[in-house]
Amino acid sequence: MSVTVSDPCFTNAADLLSVEQAIAALLKNVEPVRETETVTLSNAHNRVLATEITSPIDVPGFDNSAMDGYAVHTRDVGLSAQDGLAITQRIPAGSMGDEVEPGCCARIFTGAPIPEGANAVVIQEVCRVENDRLFFDQSLCEQENIRPRGNDISVGNTILESGTVLRAAQLGLAASVGVDKVDVFRELKVAIFSTGDELIEPGQPLAPGQIYNSNRYQMRALLEAQGCAVIDLGTVPDSFDATQKALIEGAEQADLVMTSGGVSVGEEDHVKAALESVGELNMWRIRMKPGKPLAFGRMGDVPFIGLPGNPVSVFVTFLLFARPYIQAQQGQSASEPWSYPVQANFSYRAKQRREYVRVRLRRDDDKLIAESFARQGSDVMRSVAWSDGLVEVTEDSSVAPGDTVCFLPFSEWAR
Ligand code: AMP
Ligand code: MG
Repeated sequence: MSVTVSDPCFTNAADLLSVEQAIAALLKNVEPVRETETVTLSNAHNRVLATEITSPIDVPGFDNSAMDGYAVHTRDVGLSAQDGLAITQRIPAGSMGDEVEPGCCARIFTGAPIPEGANAVVIQEVCRVENDRLFFDQSLCEQENIRPRGNDISVGNTILESGTVLRAAQLGLAASVGVDKVDVFRELKVAIFSTGDELIEPGQPLAPGQIYNSNRYQMRALLEAQGCAVIDLGTVPDSFDATQKALIEGAEQADLVMTSGGVSVGEEDHVKAALESVGELNMWRIRMKPGKPLAFGRMGDVPFIGLPGNPVSVFVTFLLFARPYIQAQQGQSASEPWSYPVQANFSYRAKQRREYVRVRLRRDDDKLIAESFARQGSDVMRSVAWSDGLVEVTEDSSVAPGDTVCFLPFSEWAR
């Protein structure tokens, strides 16, 4: 993929891109990983399915009881209220019963196969048992409390499409049809480094002017949550040579190189020049806050995403831009994370840029109320850690208490 300066979005370098334009430009020509591997179901969590799964069996494979109770024939319902039905057998889950004769019934448990001769299950709560005879005074429909064969899945059904992320439910579903191995795309390798002479690792004493490198840890976690294999190249000083060296090292090992910081146009921002020396780069200024500068380019076949330096901007630009890009590279079928309307409990005014306000939700009767964190600066990482998600305030608009606003939950976007 290459976004060149002749792209309509970039005809005027002074123009700021909208969030949508930046996403569209990013996603235009993503090259997904093609290599696949076969992994056991136990090792498949969060991997992306490369081949659809069709079911070799019906699930359930036999009519079975949905409840603990008694398997009966509806023809005998009248009898059950008077003389009762003879309880002639007991069928726990995992065993097969014998045919139920007229006037008889079988004690049965949830999941056990319905025996021949029975066509309904009467739940134990409405029954009385005396001298091995069953009495109930209840009407009963044919097939009542019976889960029929194939109720969930029929032989040949496609149960999971290629491009699906295998999470808990998908793994359970694959197991339910007896699949023990799945074809998945190989893990996406993402090389990361943080730029900045001021950065030092947590655990070290701070010298004057230093700050701890927090982006490294949030980038790692965000990528791991996306199922990426992270190649962590650590912290890189603000110099052309060191930045160039790290970029080359990343491009040699990874499918994507992602950095934080150094993408503004100050004298200490070396990402642009270093990347241009080994590949091509576009510096984007996006009409949003936090997170205005974003760099996107490539070194040969390996794409590059340069996130801003401020920790809050890293988080927000990762969610909005890097995440969908990574998902496309991983071979995931496109899916928009959910956002939904909530009620604001704060005032906010966005000027020419779209703003992403960090908020926490609180329930008030049937309404969800969004409270904003008091300080919304792009350096205030506490605003992210405190929050449940972002409220999007579009360009040149304002929010007043009581307004309905668009909420982007971290549970959807940062998982
Ligand atoms: P930059 O884009 O490199 O000018 O960085 C913008 C701001 O983010 C500066 O205040 C940096 O000190 C800060 N910053 C950059 N990288 C990191 C990092 N890895 N962890 C914490 N803060 C950072
Ligand atoms: Mg810097």
